[in-house]
Amino acid sequence: MTSERHISSWERLEKPGSLQLAVYMWLHIPVVNLANVVESLTLARDLACICSQAAALSMQTLNDKTDNQMSKNTGKSAQAVEHKTTRTDESQPRYTSFNAYLREKFGARVYRVPIDAGFTCPNRDGTRALGGCTFCDDRGSGAPTINQVLSVKEQLNTGITRIRRRFKAEKFLAYFQAFTNTYAPEAVLRSLYDVSLDHEDVVGICIGTRPDCLDDNVLDLLSEYAKKTFVFLEIGLQSAHNKTLDLINRAHSAEEFFDAVERARRRNLTVATHLIFGLPGETRQDMMDTVRQVANVGITAIKIHQLCVYKHTPMAIDYSLGRLPLLEEDDYVALVCDALEMLPPDMVVMRLVAEGTREEIIAPEWCFEKSRIMGKIDQELERRGSRQGSKFLAEIGIES
Ligand code: SF4
Repeated sequence: MTSERHISSWERLEKPGSLQLAVYMWLHIPVVNLANVVESLTLARDLACICSQAAALSMQTLNDKTDNQMSKNTGKSAQAVEHKTTRTDESQPRYTSFNAYLREKFGARVYRVPIDAGFTCPNRDGTRALGGCTFCDDRGSGAPTINQVLSVKEQLNTGITRIRRRFKAEKFLAYFQAFTNTYAPEAVLRSLYDVSLDHEDVVGICIGTRPDCLDDNVLDLLSEYAKKTFVFLEIGLQSAHNKTLDLINRAHSAEEFFDAVERARRRNLTVATHLIFGLPGETRQDMMDTVRQVANVGITAIKIHQLCVYKHTPMAIDYSLGRLPLLEEDDYVALVCDALEMLPPDMVVMRLVAEGTREEIIAPEWCFEKSRIMGKIDQELERRGSRQGSKFLAEIGIES
């Protein structure tokens, strides 16, 4: 699983001395122009402040009902969790998209620029396990557009140029996507995050990580950043069932996930999670059970996708041996619609279908047709006359 890229990456510095740290930082981190950083951070902070004031306009009655329901479902304190309940009509989108969320928050077209900052993962280096999650390829779930040979600053600059041209984006979020982006000493994390913010059009950072790499010190660090810029913390879960997590070699438990979310929420961090539908051995009931649990813990955003078989993964072997059944597209569409109905209406939906290329993915065939599957999801919601939150609101006694 080790790629050439890792040879120059942070993972070589398992227990770095100060000289190693200095060399690593000299190689990877260009000098930061502090004046520019402070200026862009101030703008982002002001925007975040305006948005948090808007978000505070929630209905107390609903919150009381929601809290009761959440406590009933999860046994967790739900006092910090609020949901907007504005009723929707047929002319409105049937779910809350990430693009709309970012546009509302920043008043501009904001896109994420994926970055591979040279991290590894405790699930690969033997700290938690070896070999990684059975679905994860040697890009560590990073985007194929990432050029891992480049420094963080170069990846950001080339990504911004490409995305600005393609999508007419105005502002950007540095997306620490590949591998586990809180898995390094604090000095290294600070340097990497700082360098990514040293661009006048970067308005925040998105950090993808695992629950076992979010101790209180890391969360304190992130909340320090969240006071001066937008911080979006993505914690992978995939399934809330430990039997499934064991089967796919996640090497963390569902309990660790919910504990990390709770500690992040206590620090007012914005949290997103990722789920996969169609994991080995999971029934519809298992998947909906996972959705129900994440719907009720105050997570801001969710990414759902189908199980895709990537080349050079343990799952690719299982698939080639006929031991890994995959979801049919219509079954997946139905599951996604069921899940959307169960989610809070204001939970931001970051993704509903994974896409990829034939160079990296073996199956299912329909994952090469993302727009067609997205169209089917829209049609199915329309056919049902439902939308995101329909059942969530019904459960707590509110008509959607
Ligand atoms: S935790 Fe993330 S990076 Fe690590 S093996 Fe699993 S999917 Fe890959």
